[in-house]
Amino acid sequence: MSETRATVVAFIGLGHMGAPMAANLVRAGVDVRGVDLSAEAVEHARALGVPIAESGAAAVAEADVAITMLPVGRHVLAAYTGGETGVGLLAAARPGTLFIECSTIAVDDARRAHELALAAGHRNVDAPVSGGVMGAEAATLAFMVGGDDADVAEARPLLDLMGRRVVHCGGPGLGQAAKVCNNMILGVSMIAVSEAFVLGEKLGLSHEALFEVAANASGQCWALTTNCPVPGPVPGSPANNEYRPGFAGALMAKDLDLAAQAIAATGVHAEAGILAAEIYRRFAAGEGAMMDFSGIITEIRERSDGGAAA
Ligand code: NAD
Repeated sequence: MSETRATVVAFIGLGHMGAPMAANLVRAGVDVRGVDLSAEAVEHARALGVPIAESGAAAVAEADVAITMLPVGRHVLAAYTGGETGVGLLAAARPGTLFIECSTIAVDDARRAHELALAAGHRNVDAPVSGGVMGAEAATLAFMVGGDDADVAEARPLLDLMGRRVVHCGGPGLGQAAKVCNNMILGVSMIAVSEAFVLGEKLGLSHEALFEVAANASGQCWALTTNCPVPGPVPGSPANNEYRPGFAGALMAKDLDLAAQAIAATGVHAEAGILAAEIYRRFAAGEGAMMDFSGIITEIRERSDGGAAA
């Protein structure tokens, strides 16, 4: 790379998150080459101003940095190695390319991706995000980053263009570790808050009274005070909008499943985390998949004898 050449970024995966993230890089003047297997995703990204490359291999062949934003770990590993798609990003990239893996994937898959990248003569950081599609569009994502200091330092200016918070969590895989741990707290706490509201209903306690007490006492948490699962106390929460996401039940189920995998791999005695994963797996098997994850309260209410009494 010549000293004066602007950073070229291959952006692989232009879905709900990837397209607006890539568009923010373009807006900031970065030379982006976007790629997606879906023609619809490509057209949407193009409409947002993202230049499209012929293939993943063509995109990374000219890139300094390759960002992946794909559904799950197997897609990332297949894209890296070629898998069945024949993309083979690692083989096609120039030596020393910095791979920034932004998808939410298992810690073990993130570490495998890191090893594969290093073995191919490249560098890799895992940088999963929170903030959802709105955060991707507004460039307000939070990045949880795992990797070596120098690589994270090099990734940071690009991440700053797509988000407003970048936390270096430690070595390879630890960005994903932070993501699954945080979302396990969120899943468990949303179930706890929802069960408490339904119990309050059965006991004759109003939503407002319980909120007033818990929001100012030791029950206070994000699931209660920002994403409150009952309509009323927090006017902006999805409960006031028929549980439209927000953060979809399917994504919570996915993240809790990753937490469950990590729990199994480490042998941690995390009964609540495992149970939360089961509860959200069931929720996401039906209409809950497309509802905000706070919609879990509707299932708890339905399963409580006699339904709601509020
Ligand atoms: P998405 O399904 O909308 O987009 C993924 C895109 O990857 C699709 O367009 C698909 O065609 C493309 N793709 C798959 N394999 C490919 C390959 N080999 N080469 C090129 N393109 C390929 O998913 P999303 O909502 O954008 O989420 C992406 C990641 O971000 C997921 O891991 C998700 O868990 C995580 N995440 C999503 C949200 C959210 O609110 N949507 C929030 C935080 C994190």
